[in-house]
Amino acid sequence: MSFKIFNTLSREKEVFEPINPKKVGLYTCGPTVYNYAHIGNLRTYIFEDVLKRVLNYNNYQVKHVMNITDVGHLTGDRDMGEDKIEKESKKENKTAWEIAEFYTEKFKEDLTSLNIIYPDIFCKATNNIKEQIEMIEVLEKKDFTYRTSDGIYFDTSKIKDYTKLSHQKIDALKEGARVEINIEKRNATDFVLWKFSSKDIKRQMEWESPWGVGFPGWHIECSAMSVKYLGEQFDIHCGGVDFINLHHTNELAQTEATTGKIPWVKYWMHGEFLNLKDGEKMAKSTGNFLTIQSEFLDKDIDPLVYRFATYSLHYRRQMEWSDEIVTSAINSYQNLLAKIKNLGKEKGIINQNFKNKFLSEINDDLNMPKALAVLQEVLKSQLSNKDKLATILDFDKVLGLELDKIKNETETEIIPEEIKKLVKERETARLEKNWTKSDELRKKINSLGYEIRDTNSGSKISKI
Ligand SMILES: [Zn+2]
Repeated sequence: MSFKIFNTLSREKEVFEPINPKKVGLYTCGPTVYNYAHIGNLRTYIFEDVLKRVLNYNNYQVKHVMNITDVGHLTGDRDMGEDKIEKESKKENKTAWEIAEFYTEKFKEDLTSLNIIYPDIFCKATNNIKEQIEMIEVLEKKDFTYRTSDGIYFDTSKIKDYTKLSHQKIDALKEGARVEINIEKRNATDFVLWKFSSKDIKRQMEWESPWGVGFPGWHIECSAMSVKYLGEQFDIHCGGVDFINLHHTNELAQTEATTGKIPWVKYWMHGEFLNLKDGEKMAKSTGNFLTIQSEFLDKDIDPLVYRFATYSLHYRRQMEWSDEIVTSAINSYQNLLAKIKNLGKEKGIINQNFKNKFLSEINDDLNMPKALAVLQEVLKSQLSNKDKLATILDFDKVLGLELDKIKNETETEIIPEEIKKLVKERETARLEKNWTKSDELRKKINSLGYEIRDTNSGSKISKI
């Protein structure tokens, strides 16, 4: 069955045909590690994980590379401002290296809690400085660069179709680029490849280069590392939609200019935003954002509820965050787990009709809402419980919802969130030695049909 994906390059759904029939090269842009990833960022990583799982389900072997931006991403996207990591290091009174290390680990924890499969290669910009310098040297030899007082720049006017990914008119792009004015740039859309360290402020992260001490621009790392690990041409490159006009456009321009091989990437895929209420943007840079920790772990909600919630919409549609979405996702997810638990433990055989139906939905540009509908059809079907279970667990290779984990869990794991919240409140009251409140909460929990037992390892809850 053919796999169709929406290619940002053509703005069309295309049949996926990899360069090498069985092996797929996949590059996904990773985080800039100066703060926690927010759940909007993580929506993109979930979409990319689904993509990888769907490729695997279609029997492709995937080599997945993800970068970690630990240097060179400036507070202004147009090569102005401070390095985000160095800036945070001053704020937190740690070294830039410690900041990068800490938030990289936090990011990996988020991936784990969302059951996102790690890339085959995680690569840090700071570990690949040599490769970035080499690429800039090639660009320099081919006359795509020029020097200003603060760095080596890429001359975008030397590229015939600079806007082929963004499909923007060059004038519109220039207009956007004028937000930050650098009078030394030849063209508003030009971008920095190597930035010189400032003479006034000592940087923590800087390297020698043929042009002077400094650090790489934000875009060059992805070009250098993807070519290093996936070759000069590969299949799929992903990121959030906010990368199309600037980051990916610049990656594309400089890589094709370096290698001369076109296309560098055959398919470009982009995940849409998750917004706050009324379309308000979530952004790490403004601090206006929600995390897995704040919205799930702190509230004792399984982060897989979020993974499940993202399936309610296609990845190319904007999603709006609300408490109702979470509540409804908790209920639907727990309902689903409970139904699967009721199927018993014995696995039969995978039903091919349903498998084909599921496959045709996921192969239609990752149509997860419809794929979930097929799962519900299986549950309602006339199949035996053991065949239903086998079929659903097969789907879970793509869904990644750990639908089988519930089989080994005790009843306490499917205690309603409302009860869990009360138990937590009661634990706090006990810690504060507020016995009246603690007793009141116990009565309330009882009245809702749950019993609470205090043990050495904390409170245990069970249905009365
Ligand atoms: Zn990138």
